[in-house]
Amino acid sequence: MTGRRRLRICVHGVVQGVGFRPFVYTTAAALGLSGSVRNDSSGAVIEVEGDERAIRNFLFRLRDQAPPLAVIESMESTDVPLVGGTGFEIADTSHSSGGRTLTSPDVAMCVDCAAEQRDPRNRRHRHAFVNCTNCGPRFTIIASLPYDRAATTMAGFAMCADCAREYADPADRRFHAQPVCCPHCGPHLSYRDRAGRTEAGEHGLTSARRLLRDGGILAVKGIGGYHLACDARSDAAVNELRRRKQRGDKPFAIMAADLTTAATVAEIGPAAARVLSGHQRPIVLLPRSPTTHVAESVAPHNPDLGVLLAYSPLHTLLFGLPGDPPGPQTLVMTSGNLGGEPICFTDEDAVDRLAHLADGWLMHDRDILVPCDDSVVRIVDDLELPIRRSRGYAPLPVALPVAVPPTLAVGADLKNTMAVADGKYAWLSQHIGDMDDLATLSAFDDAQRHLRVLTGVAPEVIVVDAHPGYRSTAWASRHRGTTPVRHVQHHHAHIAAVMAEHGLDGTTQVLGFAFDGTGYGPDGAVWGGEMLLANYKEYRRLAHLRYVPLAGGDTSVLRPYRMALAHLWAAGMPWDPDLPPVRACREDERRVLRHQLETGLGCAPTSSMGRLFDAVSSLVGVRQVVAYEAQAAIEFEGLTRGVDGGPRRYAFGVTTGAAGEPTEIDAAPLLTEVVVDLRDGVSVGVIGARFHRAVADLIVDLAVACAAEADTVALSGGVFQNVVLLRLAVNSLHAKGFDVITHRRVPPNDGGIALGQLLVGNSV
Ligand SMILES: [Zn+2]
Ligand SMILES: [Zn+2]
Repeated sequence: MTGRRRLRICVHGVVQGVGFRPFVYTTAAALGLSGSVRNDSSGAVIEVEGDERAIRNFLFRLRDQAPPLAVIESMESTDVPLVGGTGFEIADTSHSSGGRTLTSPDVAMCVDCAAEQRDPRNRRHRHAFVNCTNCGPRFTIIASLPYDRAATTMAGFAMCADCAREYADPADRRFHAQPVCCPHCGPHLSYRDRAGRTEAGEHGLTSARRLLRDGGILAVKGIGGYHLACDARSDAAVNELRRRKQRGDKPFAIMAADLTTAATVAEIGPAAARVLSGHQRPIVLLPRSPTTHVAESVAPHNPDLGVLLAYSPLHTLLFGLPGDPPGPQTLVMTSGNLGGEPICFTDEDAVDRLAHLADGWLMHDRDILVPCDDSVVRIVDDLELPIRRSRGYAPLPVALPVAVPPTLAVGADLKNTMAVADGKYAWLSQHIGDMDDLATLSAFDDAQRHLRVLTGVAPEVIVVDAHPGYRSTAWASRHRGTTPVRHVQHHHAHIAAVMAEHGLDGTTQVLGFAFDGTGYGPDGAVWGGEMLLANYKEYRRLAHLRYVPLAGGDTSVLRPYRMALAHLWAAGMPWDPDLPPVRACREDERRVLRHQLETGLGCAPTSSMGRLFDAVSSLVGVRQVVAYEAQAAIEFEGLTRGVDGGPRRYAFGVTTGAAGEPTEIDAAPLLTEVVVDLRDGVSVGVIGARFHRAVADLIVDLAVACAAEADTVALSGGVFQNVVLLRLAVNSLHAKGFDVITHRRVPPNDGGIALGQLLVGNSV
């Protein structure tokens, strides 16, 4: 004999906009329970009444069978008085006071929808826009809250009777799925060729597929913007795309029809397979398969291929369903833009700006409201290392270890990502890009407005990078009104970001290694090889790479040979003509450079670890001029992978500072050893292995020397995208008994800065 109970259950976590309330409704209804579910500011509140056993069953299913996108962090239940009644209702979000509805990221087509799309008897057979409560566009089509159809770019498509019935049926997979549609009532495909001729629906799709098969370049409207696609097996097509995009050697990503196809181009372990086919569908950087059929020109000199699987129903049609004429099963999929510009996401813009890039356009009439680039991850020891956190992840909240007032953090100028936060939640924007042109600034402005609307955060604090020349900082000055603006040192923000990810509340300090290319130091130097003792409130610079002159700023970033020559000069080593960077530098440029280094003219002192990687890559002859950021270091890492450096070790010089002064790390002894090996004919791979080992040893030695200060080591900054270095450092630190925290949720590069800014900026 079991009694009747009424339970109030508060569910915390990501349970809004993910089909959670309909799930609660159907679960309660199936168990014959009455009550209600509504959203509140921290999650959902459920009341259920009925027999004891059914309630226990309900609680079990709540945890065990929640929708795939829901993240339940905690549940508290309390008994409340019985009220009777028979029905179960979903309370309307718009009436809840002070509530915050969270917007879901865009979600890749689910297996149920994919099966319907393939099924000739299903009414959504070959539907390019099939979606349901568990999948489909969200973030990129929602204009405002509350989240219902009227607030999305589906507003103009009136549901047909069949779709309306599914939408209203709590037992249906499309119950309250706002973008629900079918071939009768949904958006429509169209194809446009260079002459402006258009074809609708299946005819258009056929023409698009034919274009790809014939080696043409197709602009395809995706979820977060336009892609440019071509056959990844055709060197001619890929080279033509590279030429039109003015892309240099920068690698392209490849979209594969499915996991089996992806496994023919790259080496895919179980963890990579899981990430590739997960609902976020990021680009995963994977070792190229030795038997890959992908054209060499897809990613020249690069050890990895960026691979992603088809994620929208339109993609699967593009690859072809059973019975379709064969077509390419691997496509280059690159952002529809000219190098460096923001991705095109409106049809007019795509036709206009991509006019000289594409041979045809596969378009549709469901508008994209905000652009959102593909996300990029690496896999390190079976875990995701984010490189770019965007489509599929934004705007999922990141839990903060300490509560903050409503805040906007504008991020940094490279790989810009901004964030808003309130209480214990932060929302990071999609990837915005490098803030070096008007179009990106305007994209930044739109994105921050959209993010504020979707989260309801009205910032009372704005946090910016301390760099006086950053455009993001200037943006804040223009738009602050009366809102206080707090400046945060770049590398402090890096360390705070990784602390925040790991839930550190800031009461203890960490030994933070922030290794990257560029960040403004309070002494006016370009920092980037920093060891900081830090919590959120403050930091102390414990050690840094000894300053070398960065001559001509960006010029030396784009030409690593200049950085190598600067490092040789600073080390007192001659520019001998047998050294690759000396050979790469014309005599007149060498003369000017030497003059600059000797007089300091046009030079900024830098402690950048990223630049040291560039310099050594050049010194051993790997790369003298780069076409994209970190190219020299990426190729160097690639040649080093899996190589054993043997017993010989390189070491940095370490000079302990006077009381209160930071320790200086001198690369000169290491560079001397590199040159000795080079002249002995030691292979680049072995030199690379010894160099990576030396940087890892440096981290461990410094941590051991400062172990009295803290026992947790935090690794952040773009240099830690280097998996060879990351693994070596983490393993060696663990062996010495340190706790090590590294990035898992936001990128170690500047795309993760905003998260750290939120905490540091509010800890004053
Ligand atoms: Zn679905
Ligand atoms: Zn319909």
